[in-house]
Amino acid sequence: MSLQDDLRAQLIKQFAADVVEITEENGNVYYGCPTCKRPVSRNNETCVSCGQTLNWEHITKEEYKKVGMKKATLSFEVPGDFVKSDCRKCPLSYITKKDGENQYDCPLNMRNKCPLEFSEV
Ligand SMILES: [Zn+2]
Repeated sequence: MSLQDDLRAQLIKQFAADVVEITEENGNVYYGCPTCKRPVSRNNETCVSCGQTLNWEHITKEEYKKVGMKKATLSFEVPGDFVKSDCRKCPLSYITKKDGENQYDCPLNMRNKCPLEFSEV
């Protein structure tokens, strides 16, 4: 983020934004900062985490959204004699030069801990 963007973000936070009432997956309800979603105490004028000015007059309701990592699964076919870490036969692999020699490498950097799982087609 450039300094200018940073200043802009700070300026925007000076305008009061509606506090959100966030309902978590387990049913817990808390008041959250509309900008960073972290919990804020009732009647705090600004968010202690990010400095957002808070407006308590209109509280918007929001479902809690889980952020973090999620799992991606890709399914493709490999030859029947394919074994884990057999990058040469893996359709995902690509060729790189290492010490002047061509070598198959894993785009996921998992050559030595190949996560592929197999099932019959
Ligand atoms: Zn905040």
